[in-house]
Parts: sequence; C-alpha cells; structure tokens
Amino acid sequence: MFLCDFHIHSCYSDGKLSVAELVDFYGARGFGAIAITDHLCETRTFLGQSARVLQKTLLKNNFNRYIKEIRTQAERALRRYNMIVIPGVEFTKNSFSHRDSAHILGLGIHSFIDPDLSISRIVDEVHGQQGLVIAAHPVSTRKMEPQTYHLWDHRDELSTQFDAWEVASGAHLFTEVFESGLPMIANSDLHQPRQMSSWKTVLDGPRTLQNVFSGIKKQELDFTYYENPFPWQADQKHKKASWLMPDLLGSSLGG
Ligand SMILES: [Zn+2]
Ligand SMILES: [Zn+2]
Repeated sequence: MFLCDFHIHSCYSDGKLSVAELVDFYGARGFGAIAITDHLCETRTFLGQSARVLQKTLLKNNFNRYIKEIRTQAERALRRYNMIVIPGVEFTKNSFSHRDSAHILGLGIHSFIDPDLSISRIVDEVHGQQGLVIAAHPVSTRKMEPQTYHLWDHRDELSTQFDAWEVASGAHLFTEVFESGLPMIANSDLHQPRQMSSWKTVLDGPRTLQNVFSGIKKQELDFTYYENPFPWQADQKHKKASWLMPDLLGSSLGG
C-alpha cells in the first residue's frame, strides 16, 4: 500500500515550492505516487488574464519546459524514493459566479491542451493522451475562497466523461461526493507545506503509472487522513517568503 496525492501546485503557478522541492517533500514522507497539477488558466476571461499578469498560471510558451522539468524530477524521484511523479495540469475556468467556475485536473498529459476549449473537448483531449480527467473540488470546500460548482451542477451529463471526482481537496471530506455513487479520489490541493495535513488516496500494488491509473479507474482505492509528521520543519524555510509574498490572487484563483 502506498500514499498518493494527485493535486499539487508548484511555483509554475501559485504554489510555494519548486517541482524539485515537492519531490523531496513528498519523497521524504514515503509517498508512492504524486501528480504535479499547476493551473492552466483560460486566456479570454478577465480572471484568466489577471492570472497571466500576476504569473500565477502556466502558459503555452513555458508548457514544454514545465513537462520536461517534471520528467527530469520524476526520474530522480523514482531512483531516490521509489515514488512516481505524474505530469498534470489544472484547467482553470474562473468566473465571478461560483456556478460558472470549473477546475479540471488532467493527469498524465504530455502535450499542451488549450484551456479555452469547452469542458467536453478538454476531456477528449486528455483522454486522447491516455490521461485521466478529475473533477477538482466540485462542491463547497468550506474555505473562504471562490467556489467551483459548474461540474457538480452538470454531474448527470458529465458523469460518463470524468474518471473521478474529488471527495476531498484538503482537510475536509465532501460528504455530498462521498454519498453520490460517483467514482472518487482524495487529494490535498497543496499550495504550501502547511496544507500537507489532509485527506489522501491510498493504492495497492506496484508503483507504476499503469497500476495507479487502473486503481483509480476501477476504484480499487482507499482514503486516509494524513497528519503531516513534521509541520514545523516544513514551514520553517518558507516562512519568510510567504510573509513577503502574500497570495495576491488567492482570492480570485481559488484552489
Ligand atoms: Zn482548483
Ligand atoms: Zn488546485
């Protein structure tokens, strides 16, 4: 059995740690599989354009560098920690209305996908790259942040397209998702070390991409609340940085 977290942000978008630091952060804690899923914001909306100005989103022109860096770190993670690192993105469709906002995780992709495409087209493109599509925090996160209800409001028609729905994106378990009968996954939506204490997915079998994806698809998984064993150590190094750089877009980007 091994711990997994498939929703993690690096400093390529609005996360505090680099990809290398995330690998060491999770590897040192014995995780078996993680996915790096930086925001890829729409370009046509006001909030998407704001994210570009504030450098809180991946761009088309740094996407290949992002994937290459994750691949390099994935090789190191496998050698050093026996942990697999999956490249991913969080397609980020933000609107001033919670009901029109949607965040979609694409796991295991390797080529750029236009975030301005419709949700159905994004799903097709991710599946076309043999990736998985996850509905991120589809119900209320109980946090003071913008919410993303579009996917949940359309779950009847989207249920056949999405591979799993987040039953947690942090410390709170979404009972609506848990009781829905939809396929589930638990992640942390980690932006900074202190968010490490959260629900995680547990998988069994070999630590390979094939086994991980199959476990999610067949729902042969479990969930556990993970209490970060070294919280003081994790925040020490980044304390100064977070004081100096408040999350400028935190209120509009959401998780
Ligand atoms: Zn999100
Ligand atoms: Zn996120």
